[in-house]
Amino acid sequence: MADSLKLVCLECGSTNRVPEARLGAGPKCGTCGAKLNDGKVRPLDLKTLQKSAQADDLPLLVDFWAPWCGPCRMMAPQFAQAAQALAPGARLAKIDTQDHPDASARFNIRGIPALILFQNGREVARLAGARPAADIEAFVRSKAKLPA
Ligand SMILES: [Zn+2]
Repeated sequence: MADSLKLVCLECGSTNRVPEARLGAGPKCGTCGAKLNDGKVRPLDLKTLQKSAQADDLPLLVDFWAPWCGPCRMMAPQFAQAAQALAPGARLAKIDTQDHPDASARFNIRGIPALILFQNGREVARLAGARPAADIEAFVRSKAKLPA
């Protein structure tokens, strides 16, 4: 099973195994049926974020944001555009630091928006401040390893 990838469902938190050859075929979560890597930005809680950051074999980019943050709201459509561009080889998600202040503490977030890229169970890189979609996409492609 060397060519099967572990992906935590960003909706329900279940761990799924997806053959690498089926990554582009719209794989769904075996537990809840949500699409695993359809290029949509999904909201996370801290538990799902930590599980996914630990277990995922695909790069995971998380936007730490809050509703009161103007630059965060301005970046949201850019982030969504980058998510589409990077699917199915990388996943983008977001966490509301107002609802989940424990996430800011856990990841030592000093200002938002802040992007953290995870792969192979560890933090790979960070990007601070609001960025256009092209910058977000280039950041992930340069720092993470996407499947061919
Ligand atoms: Zn699920």
